Amino acid sequence: MNTAPPNVFALVDCNNFFVSCERVFNPAIWHKPVAVLSNNDGCIIARSAEVKAMGVRMGAPLHEYRDILKKGGVHIFSSNYQLYGDMSNRVMAILQGAVPEIEVYSVDEAFLKLSSLPPVKHHDEYTHYCQRVRQQVFQWTGIPTSVGIAPTKTLAKVASHMVKKTPGKSVVNLCSTEAQIAALARLEVEDLWGVSHRFGLRLRKLGIGTALDLRNANPKFIRKHFGVVGERIALELQGTSCLDLSRAASKKSIMASRSFGSLIRDKADLREALSNHTARAAEKLRKQGSAAHGFGVFIRTNHLRRQDPQYRGTKMVGFDIAVNDTPTLIKAASQLLDELYRPGFNYKKCGVFLCEFTPEDEQQGHLFAALPDDASRAHSARLMDCMDDLNQRMGPGTLKFLTQGVKTKQNWQMRSQTRSPRFTTQWSELLEVM
Ligand SMILES: [Mg+2]
Repeated sequence: MNTAPPNVFALVDCNNFFVSCERVFNPAIWHKPVAVLSNNDGCIIARSAEVKAMGVRMGAPLHEYRDILKKGGVHIFSSNYQLYGDMSNRVMAILQGAVPEIEVYSVDEAFLKLSSLPPVKHHDEYTHYCQRVRQQVFQWTGIPTSVGIAPTKTLAKVASHMVKKTPGKSVVNLCSTEAQIAALARLEVEDLWGVSHRFGLRLRKLGIGTALDLRNANPKFIRKHFGVVGERIALELQGTSCLDLSRAASKKSIMASRSFGSLIRDKADLREALSNHTARAAEKLRKQGSAAHGFGVFIRTNHLRRQDPQYRGTKMVGFDIAVNDTPTLIKAASQLLDELYRPGFNYKKCGVFLCEFTPEDEQQGHLFAALPDDASRAHSARLMDCMDDLNQRMGPGTLKFLTQGVKTKQNWQMRSQTRSPRFTTQWSELLEVM
């Protein structure tokens, strides 16, 4: 008899992802307490199990916990997004090879549609399959993962939550109704995927305190009080799949911005920072095959510094013919900065954004705008292709524009005092074994 439900999803979650990435290349911190900091070294955004056990909460400001961390001998790292992004791509590529249908849900999580594999006789086979997949991910990347399996995405999230609460477990399978009921009885309703704190309070007022209460509630009653979104969660908890994998929709706008590691007064520094943000945003735009009609720049001071005069400014341009080549956009950013910049302010942050996209191969001409001739467009497209390819293979920033700056220490850069080497994306930072 076939006991597997019609739809089966697995949620694969990388354990303490940023910490795990740091540990892959640094055996000295295996089994040691490790924490990773946010941009500009402000807050703690990833904690190893040892650091969680010290009572350091997620998002805690570094300065409040400095003593505790020091006493506990915690190894602290600035965030290394090049390393984490690259490791994430490697993990996702392995998962993509393991199952025909997958949804990359975040940098460290993916839903796999196990029912897109050849049919199985018993749902236990999925557990064994996922064990093998996570072994492969660990063997090929060094990243430990945990897996929750269930007939709906909401229940797969519950299963994944259970894995983390059960020491020694790495895969939890909630395909059977008995297992689902046991798990939901022990879960507070606010811990469900899609249930916010406020939503939880309203549910509690109606006597629904656990996930099991919500599962057992009358769907019509839930729909009346909480609309289709609430009803969908209740149905998903009963094992009726309402949420399929969502295909990666291409973005409708792209933003690139950073706070500076120190305050910036100089226009030349702002220009350099904006050129770098523009280059990054344009690369993302080309990667999704889009071109943009809208482009904007913003600069601002730090509103928390009461002693400083305050200023913030945003300016946009519209292109009649959508663009995605870096030089055109850098030139626009520079012109916008000339209009925005006011001397005498301490600037804290700047950024660029792109919007109003069209597919790059369906460029509409414009009645009154001169269309660049085909030869020059093809030339610029080839140049950008070549640049993206080189930067992909040799590391970000291998080939760049002069306005992006060439100094190794750039004033506008983020504070990042304890970043580990970018082991997998910069040839000059490869791991050396003596
Ligand atoms: Mg995770």
